[in-house]
Amino acid sequence: MKGKNLSERDKRYLWHPLTQHKTAAPPLGIVRAEGALLWDEAGNSYIDGIASWYTAMYGHGNKFITEAINKQMKKLDFVMFSGFTHEPAIDLAEKLMAILPDNQSKLFFNDNGSTAIEAAIKIALQYHHNHNDRRDTLIAFENGFHGDTFGAMSASGLSSYNGPFEDFLLKVERIPVPNDQNIDEVLEKLESILKNNRCAAFIFEPLVQGAAGMKFHSAKGLDKLVKKCREHNVLCIADEVMTGFGKTGKNFASENLQNLPDVMCLSKALTAGMFPLSITSCSQNVFDAFLSEEVSKGFFHSHTYSAHPIGCAAALAGLELLNSKEIMERRTYIEAAHKFFVLSVRNHPKIKHTRAMGVILAIDLDLEIERYGNLRDQLYQFFMNRGIMLRPLGNTIYVLPPFVISNDQLREIYNAINELLESF
Ligand SMILES: *Cc1c(COP(=O)(O)O)cnc(C)c1O
Repeated sequence: MKGKNLSERDKRYLWHPLTQHKTAAPPLGIVRAEGALLWDEAGNSYIDGIASWYTAMYGHGNKFITEAINKQMKKLDFVMFSGFTHEPAIDLAEKLMAILPDNQSKLFFNDNGSTAIEAAIKIALQYHHNHNDRRDTLIAFENGFHGDTFGAMSASGLSSYNGPFEDFLLKVERIPVPNDQNIDEVLEKLESILKNNRCAAFIFEPLVQGAAGMKFHSAKGLDKLVKKCREHNVLCIADEVMTGFGKTGKNFASENLQNLPDVMCLSKALTAGMFPLSITSCSQNVFDAFLSEEVSKGFFHSHTYSAHPIGCAAALAGLELLNSKEIMERRTYIEAAHKFFVLSVRNHPKIKHTRAMGVILAIDLDLEIERYGNLRDQLYQFFMNRGIMLRPLGNTIYVLPPFVISNDQLREIYNAINELLESF
């Protein structure tokens, strides 16, 4: 296979996610990454404007994290987490508990975002089962995204993903996300769902719906929904797979709530993009429902790579950076720069809506664009041609850069967006 480039060799055996192989352009071969930059095999560099799906928040190849991983690999590569334990998992649990909302008290390890959600849903269903309370319905937001395994897919409301599987999904009732105007209506709808169904859990992306196009909703409104659900003993599951670890300005978006979630799901930035790992955390009350003389009341769920020591080591190193002086300075700078940029473009005639929260910036263009249509591909290519990797979602252009992005790199992204606005 010498002489052929990566894109050509890729074509023979590989099947890519989210791809219609009949019409898609070949994938770009990436050979190296450092900080906020990716390099292709021709030597072109790209600013990673979305931190590779919001994972690599401390920069690609971050030395502090790679060294921690390296050390861990040499000491203990892997051991099963059933019947065994290890220091990286315990250290990570202790460090995470110190920053998670106060009511969280147990961590269950999985290996990716979807499996964190899957575990959360099963925990919720079995919680009621163990209380001899048969409940069969989930409540979720319209346009939510929670992953691509069956439980996660059921909770997701983005129909572009779920079409062929709809007949096989769990029972889910949907409510709109709350804003300042509709909260009474949403509460009413929630109440009627609670009255007419046996609801086990309410699952939501707190404050920001990522895959829906970085759509924000009201923290106050969400708080009321969580309160109402908890009054009915419906477990509240905060999917912080995207929002976790500083994206929204706080460590976790759930910190904006007075009524805390019973269960939380963490992945993506958890390991700084270095290793697949996820966590489903829960309150003591949830955990206690699984304690019994009856073995079968335990949670019989596992993934081979649960609590992988190398992933835990990466996560521990990442946590040390999250609130460090250097990273906090960058987080504050990016937040201010985003706000300033929003002010500078918000009245542009080509823009329908702009928003910024923490290191998340989103701009809805005043255009009708299909999620995976041609125009969307042109937008994508427009930025790639300028050495910037962004993944527009329909008519939404969003930026969610690694915390370590430089001021100049950030300015380059803003300049490219400005250039786009003048180009159509
Ligand atoms: C990415 C994502 C998931 C799924 O995580 P995977 O690791 O891709 O399975 C779930 N929920 C949210 C909010 C996400 O952004």
